[in-house]
Amino acid sequence: MRLERRPVVSDFLGSHISTAGGLSKAFDRAASVGCGSFQIFTKNNFQWAGKPLDRDEVAEFKRLLAAQKIPVGSHSGYLINLGAASGPNLDKSIASMIEEIERAGALGIPFVVLHPGNHLGAGEKAGIRTIAAHLKKILAATKKSAVRIALETTAGQGTSIGCRFEHLAEIYERVGSPVWLAVCFDTCHVFAAGYDLRSQPEKVLREFDRLVGFKEIVMFHFNDSKGDLGSRLDRHEHIGKGKIGLDAFRVILNERRFRDVPTILETPKDEAGKNDRMNLKLLRSLISS
Ligand code: FE
Ligand code: FE
Ligand code: ZN
Repeated sequence: MRLERRPVVSDFLGSHISTAGGLSKAFDRAASVGCGSFQIFTKNNFQWAGKPLDRDEVAEFKRLLAAQKIPVGSHSGYLINLGAASGPNLDKSIASMIEEIERAGALGIPFVVLHPGNHLGAGEKAGIRTIAAHLKKILAATKKSAVRIALETTAGQGTSIGCRFEHLAEIYERVGSPVWLAVCFDTCHVFAAGYDLRSQPEKVLREFDRLVGFKEIVMFHFNDSKGDLGSRLDRHEHIGKGKIGLDAFRVILNERRFRDVPTILETPKDEAGKNDRMNLKLLRSLISS
């Protein structure tokens, strides 16, 4: 047996990690690219329901989580739309999100990232109201759970809600139990939605702080953007190779108040993890000591 020395990672920079072969496999994969945090799907992200969690698998996952003390977040499936009107899709969305929360809870994962939803033509105002009402329903159904729902900032593709910080602020207000909500700040999405992270990252962050609050951010998604400012295109690019440039990443990484926030790459992957290593290395070079 070959003993491999694990790199000592002292920051919370990480990546979205595959769980192929079993959920707990993510820990080794994350370590092999040098992650100080990671994100997973706890079930197939293109299906409504997951295979029930296996007891041994859960035990092993929790053992590794406790042993490595590495922050882990979960990302909910892509089919969920809490902005949908009454009907089978809405019922499935609500059931699926409840399942996401239960799975995360069973695994000891503190939050589930969620794309707030699409209004599908009903309009932004109506969409926000609908989403907030369904979030309340989900929170009521999972009252005993300690898992938070982290609303992700979106690029504003199609009819998606969450591309304005005001949307998130209004959802918070309407849901009225802020302790169970949180935010996942995706740099590519915020930029594509029209916030100029390229030339005025501090201003964008101040605006977010004013409307929602820094303390709500439990995760960053660090992605550069293939689409330009305001393009509303959700296309991720390697760090420094897209339209955002490096400044925004430097500013966020050196902000003391974000020091404990896991920061996750969702940039293009390769089998060997070369891309993740490259992006993590570049990001680490931006942190001033
Ligand atoms: Fe996402
Ligand atoms: Fe994201
Ligand atoms: Zn995206």
